[in-house]
Amino acid sequence: MSDLESLEIETIVRLLSKTPRATIQARYEDCTAIAARHLKDGSEFLFALIKAAVEADVHQTNLIDDVISFLDDTHLVRLAFFLQGEVKRGIDVEGLLAHVALQAPELFPDSTLGDIPDFADWLTHDDPRSPPACHHFIFEEGAPSDMSFPTHRNHPTWHLPRVGPSFAVGGEGTATCPACGKRLVHLVTLDDLGGQRGTLPRLRLETCEGSLEPTYYSHDAAGVPTPIAPLHSPDDFTSEPATKVSTAHLASTPQRWLRQSYGISNSRQNLFRLGGLPSWIQGPQFPVVPGTDRQMKFLLQFDSLAGFFWGSGGMLYVFWDEESRITCHVPQYT
Ligand SMILES: [Zn+2]
Repeated sequence: MSDLESLEIETIVRLLSKTPRATIQARYEDCTAIAARHLKDGSEFLFALIKAAVEADVHQTNLIDDVISFLDDTHLVRLAFFLQGEVKRGIDVEGLLAHVALQAPELFPDSTLGDIPDFADWLTHDDPRSPPACHHFIFEEGAPSDMSFPTHRNHPTWHLPRVGPSFAVGGEGTATCPACGKRLVHLVTLDDLGGQRGTLPRLRLETCEGSLEPTYYSHDAAGVPTPIAPLHSPDDFTSEPATKVSTAHLASTPQRWLRQSYGISNSRQNLFRLGGLPSWIQGPQFPVVPGTDRQMKFLLQFDSLAGFFWGSGGMLYVFWDEESRITCHVPQYT
């Protein structure tokens, strides 16, 4: 740690602790700018910053939560031990603890994980410590520019190493929605269900952006969708459909990002995911195939970014049933 870096940490801690707290927003940008210089290869600095913030009791702020994503594995382990020590001393580091636990649950006992809301769901899985593999959609432009601040733009989940060919995300769909008459929005067209080896060689996903309710689509042998019941009510939100087209690739999701919480990701992380565990906003909502009690398989989720907007700015979850060739699109929002 250089003298300059120590000074930078002192500056951030001083700026975060200055009273009155009401004017913190003005100083927050200065803190963000200093921290931003250390997001890449700055683990030692960021770890020292988090410790200093906890010791000065100014750690309950987004900036300190955010920098955890940028620690290397060694410093993430050190932070896990440090925070568990603080808990024993009665210090409230719950928020920080949840961030580290999501990224490295193997460093925590079940009793700690059980106290974190997202794990309450995940602990019901057969093997909660081995979540299913998944992929991220990686945009060629990097993080969609809708929101541009350093811990969003540079978050590792927007920059995972790409695998496979590029494809289009977004754009106009081919069908129209029978409920509102608007052209559907194209989400993505998956080959081999993104390597999950389905019965269809391709699956074209299109959805009505105006629907606030679960909507089913049946797919023909070529994977092309037709909207089926239940259809949304005409009162639902109706904006002009998004027509932005982005170029994306898939990336294999590393262990550290297999679990992503909508709330904890706080609009920093890439939540465009194929397979794995859904990042629910309102808790689990697995649809069944109409007329059966067969639960559908989670296929992918899209965030309200990159030209998409779900409900009041939530998430869209798409489920798939291979036997009936039906997808169900479930929006959730805050
Ligand atoms: Zn519609």
